[in-house]
Amino acid sequence: VTGARTPLIAGNWKMNLDHLQSIAFVQKLAWSLRDANLDFGSVEVAVFPPFTDLRSVQTLVSADDLPIAFGAQDLSAHDSGAYTGEISGAFLAALDARYVIIGHSERRQYHGETDELIAAKVAAAHRHGLVPIICVGETAEDLETHGPSAVPVAQLRIALEGVVAGSEIVVAYEPVWAIGSGQAATSAQAQQVCEALRAVVAEVLGDEAAAATRILYGGSVKAANIAGFLKEPDVDGALVGGASLQLEEFASIVRFKS
Ligand code: PGA
Repeated sequence: VTGARTPLIAGNWKMNLDHLQSIAFVQKLAWSLRDANLDFGSVEVAVFPPFTDLRSVQTLVSADDLPIAFGAQDLSAHDSGAYTGEISGAFLAALDARYVIIGHSERRQYHGETDELIAAKVAAAHRHGLVPIICVGETAEDLETHGPSAVPVAQLRIALEGVVAGSEIVVAYEPVWAIGSGQAATSAQAQQVCEALRAVVAEVLGDEAAAATRILYGGSVKAANIAGFLKEPDVDGALVGGASLQLEEFASIVRFKS
């Protein structure tokens, strides 16, 4: 299935950059992309700072009308109440966040997030008009035991149970063995899994939704390999970790066409 999907380059900062550093970074990123005459209609750029930076990023982006979207790295499955330490999707929506990353492998691994919790978080994102970036991916062990697509496909099937009909989603295929390892998947490997994930979206949400849904690849993406991924018919962008913290490297990834 192919359609007119605007590529999305998403920078997942993880637990890096405080609110002052976030302001400097986003300002410089916007200057760098403008100096390079980036056609902001041909690619969407988004950054995912820590929660404590979001208000600063919102203020900067709205004051200077920067063409950079932003979102959070996680949210609560609940909307409000006695959930110490949690952040509601309502708060993120009030800060004009457009996206929220859900089910990143580090949340699954270090915080015990299950597929069911991830589905509940997808539903929470949609209750507040946020676009969830649903992360799926297999470990090296999964790959050996189950082959390339089985685990990410199974994870996505459950996560999609949380989708509110008609609401937008983004899917991110991030093989755990490729995250932060410097060893990215090949573009053919990424294509194979992203195609299988699109088939799941078609099966659960219909062909039209599948054609409109952006599926990202993530895991050791850098300026030197981004163009190869984006040439694949089912890869519609990238979720970038380490390289999203290096200004010129990230700007080069965003300008993958030039
Ligand atoms: P990486 O991380 O680009 O540093 O491999 C990707 C991610 O965790 O989203």
